[in-house]
Formats: sequence, C-alpha cells, structure tokens
Amino acid sequence: IVYSNLIRKYFKNTKPIVLGGIEASLRRIAHYDYWDDKVRRAILFDAKVDILVYGMGEKSVLKLAHNLKTGKDWKDIRGICYISPHPKEEYTILPSYQEVKGDKKKFISMFHTFYINNDPLTAKGLCQQQDSRYLIQNPPSYPLAQKELDKVHDLPYEREAHPYYRKGGEVKALETIKFSITTHRGCYGECNFCSITVHQGKVIQGRSEKSILRESKLLTKLGDFKGYILDVGGPTANMYGIECQKKLKSGSCTDKRCLYPQFCPGLKI
Ligand code: SF4
Repeated sequence: IVYSNLIRKYFKNTKPIVLGGIEASLRRIAHYDYWDDKVRRAILFDAKVDILVYGMGEKSVLKLAHNLKTGKDWKDIRGICYISPHPKEEYTILPSYQEVKGDKKKFISMFHTFYINNDPLTAKGLCQQQDSRYLIQNPPSYPLAQKELDKVHDLPYEREAHPYYRKGGEVKALETIKFSITTHRGCYGECNFCSITVHQGKVIQGRSEKSILRESKLLTKLGDFKGYILDVGGPTANMYGIECQKKLKSGSCTDKRCLYPQFCPGLKI
C-alpha cells in the first residue's frame, strides 16, 4: 500500500501498477487484518493499483506482460484481479465488503465460496462489491508442468541479499533458505489455520530429480557452503510425488478432504 501510493504520488504517469506476491494474493478479496483487528477491503482498492496477480503467478505475469506489450486486452487472463464499475456477467457474486465487515456468518459464507473456487479446473470467476465498484477475480492459473517448474528453478538467481540490506549486517531470513532446496509447491492438507492452499493451490507440482540434483550441486559451489543442505522439501509436509488422478482430471472434491478424517485412497504414493 505504501509503495504503490508513493509511486502514484511521485511518478504520476506510471500505468499500470501491478501488485503480486503472497501478501497481495491473500488480501485479494475482503479479508481480516490482524494488525488493524478489522475486516479490510480488497487490497487493490487501498493500494490504488491497477492489477493484482495472485497465486504463484508465473504464467499470469508472462501473459500479462505479453498482452500489455502488444496492446492486447488482458482482462481475461487467469490468476489476476482488477477493479470494475460493474460485476462480470457470468461470474459468481460474493457477499459485499459492506455485508461481511460486520457479519461473521456472511464472512464465513464469503470465504467458503472463495475457497471452493480455487481449483483451476472447476473455479468460476468471482466478483465482490467494495465501494460503488467491484473487485473482479478471474479463475486461477493452471499449475505448472514439471518442465515449466524446473525452468523456474533453473533460472540464474543471485542467492544473496541485496547490497542495500547487506550494509545493515547479516540478513537472518536468508540463513534458513540459502542452503535449502524447494522440491515442490501446493498442498492438499487443508489445515483450517493455513492459507497456503489459496496461494499455491491444492495440486502438488514437483520438480524433476535432475533439477533438484542440479541445484544441490550448485549450492556446494557457493563460497559459504558448509557441507550440508539444511532442508529439502516444500512449504507443506512431504507431499512430493503424491497426487490424486481424479483431482488432476476433474478438480478437487468439494464434499470431502484428502487427508481428514482419513487418508483418501485416491492419493497414490
Ligand atoms: S478423490 Fe480423495 S484425494 Fe482426490 S481430491 Fe478427492 S478427496 Fe482428495
């Protein structure tokens, strides 16, 4: 919110401003804000930006950049949200911000509809009135294929803190990730307190063993490598390589959970 408002103030002609990342993604509809202890509007409205990319976003960002560059319409791109004066005709309408901000039952109903519309194979687009205008959320991006995910992880990342922050001393957060390897993304755990599913989706997308080994070798060549890799895994439990064919073909079930109260036989290990 602060950065985009500063851009608006000092670089008035910047257009469009596109917001992304996990914070923006999880605040894409009306949401509870712990710091303010209240329900806030969709972040697009407070940050005064033009487009929000939600989820992991690689496909949406590439398509959006392409369409903006070539002057094509971008409003149907999956995995994005934007503001509109009207709801979109075939999209599902969520209870409005005004309705959910003071009514817990309405909030629960809003979240339920939002939650069951997170699977790219079955999700409908969503609209939510915020003030006199509407938030439009297009259906999510499709998961990355293994080759695509390998490509993302094979990019030449810097693997260092920005020199601006280095000046202030060691960056603690880097210590835990610099010598760790991400093997997969997504989660079908559905723990009620966790938000990873509405960001990364329920489908497990795993890297190939070759790609994981390539990164392991690369880490051993970094100057401060101490001889061990701290962690190999995903943001979730170890779901690497475990998926359900039914989910991949026709989307996740809305009437039962994959792991609770028991492990669904649909998951093949
Ligand atoms: S069939 Fe089982 S494992 Fe597959 S999506 Fe449904 S609950 Fe999950």
